[in-house]
Amino acid sequence: MKKFQTVIEPFIIKSVDPIRMTSEKERIVALEKAKYNLFKIPAHMILIDLLTDSGTGAMSSEQWAAIMRGDESYAGSASFDRLEKTVKELFGFKHVIPAHQGRAAERILFSTICKKGDIVPNNTHFDTTRANVESQGATAIDLVIPEGLDPSNTHHFKGNMDIIKLEELIKNNKDSIPVCLLTITNNSGGGQPVSMENIRAVRTLLDKYGIPLYLDACRFAENAYFIKLREPQYKDVSVKDIVLEMMSLAEGCTISAKKDGLVNIGGLLCTNNDSLAKKEKDLLILTEGYPTYGGLAGRDLDAMAVGLTEVIDEDYLEYRIAQAKYLGEHLISLGYNTIQPPGGHAIYIDAKSTLDHIPSLEFPGHALAVEFYKTGGIRSCEIGSVMFGTNDTDTGKEIPAKMELLRLALPRRTHTQSHIDYVLEVAKDIIDRKNNIRGLKIIDQPKALRHFSASFELL
Ligand SMILES: *Cc1c(COP(=O)(O)O)cnc(C)c1O
Repeated sequence: MKKFQTVIEPFIIKSVDPIRMTSEKERIVALEKAKYNLFKIPAHMILIDLLTDSGTGAMSSEQWAAIMRGDESYAGSASFDRLEKTVKELFGFKHVIPAHQGRAAERILFSTICKKGDIVPNNTHFDTTRANVESQGATAIDLVIPEGLDPSNTHHFKGNMDIIKLEELIKNNKDSIPVCLLTITNNSGGGQPVSMENIRAVRTLLDKYGIPLYLDACRFAENAYFIKLREPQYKDVSVKDIVLEMMSLAEGCTISAKKDGLVNIGGLLCTNNDSLAKKEKDLLILTEGYPTYGGLAGRDLDAMAVGLTEVIDEDYLEYRIAQAKYLGEHLISLGYNTIQPPGGHAIYIDAKSTLDHIPSLEFPGHALAVEFYKTGGIRSCEIGSVMFGTNDTDTGKEIPAKMELLRLALPRRTHTQSHIDYVLEVAKDIIDRKNNIRGLKIIDQPKALRHFSASFELL
């Protein structure tokens, strides 16, 4: 046991953004103006923004210094050389292709590898990944282990792939599976990790059928740290070596550097497949840019190279995972039901059981999101029937989503311990009077992706 238990932020603050304090009265006006849609609230009206951990982290002074070194040459930029060298060292892949963010890397991978009628298995597709598979006319199938779908189950690796179901799927569709993915950590499943044992088992199975494995590795460092903490034989292995071992089991990966790249914009597509890399680079030139910049500025490539090396620092990862755990465990002690155990980048409150007086189609997750904003200026994100509810094509009736979650995502290196304590104080105030919280109804919505722009009314 260590002598001191307090996990401190392993950095000091050198540059600050002020938070503008607001009153509950001002926030009620802002909510009414935004028609109760938190995406429409201006950022200066938010105290603590836990909407997403994507591109919202703080860069280090080394990253800002790297930005000044950016080489903006159209072709052959030295910034690309530095990024390529770093990525090859960290991940071991032969080809490194930059892209402006994760979904651009996904689009290029699936456009070159998939065709109409194909099937792509994954533990759980992230929404952009699913959309990019489906836009090729292929089918995206999620095969996470059953424990991964049970919010209260405390299995250590709830992101694991169900190997038996994967083998069944492959046996029944031998010639139509061009690639298999594993999302580390499993974002849509609550930021839950995948074990090295499972990655290896997936790879062994795929080898039998000649199918390549790709990692959706947006949170590769958080996943590696969970492996170190929870998989006994990796206790004394460095995160750096765990990352290299995870990647060595795959033919390639797609990455949104807005997560564990510790930058505000950027993405990567990596592969060991020479002929695929050639096709991918040709497509990149058509839609993103020349392969030594891929739709980014040279300075962005340099910031990404530095971010990728900083994120595997184990003091950073200890603090990162401890912050999520602290928030998650305290919410539970206040009486919230959450997805267990706490994931790497966010805490997911089960709003359906926490606010059990609000029916799914009155949006308990969204009602809680509105309450967190009104009470404390905290922005979060509903992942439930507002985001994933659908209309029955025959009756036009609304069908609720499987779960009604509220996600509190943690931007990297951005919020202090007192910010988290403040969130918990607000959470306590809310749960103490939870029976008075009202649901909402949608009064106006677009055809698709309604959570971004729908208007609501309190019931
Ligand atoms: C964010 C994310 C993506 C997409 O990346 P963008 O940079 O937002 O395009 C893909 N997969 C996972 C698991 C993600 O979390």
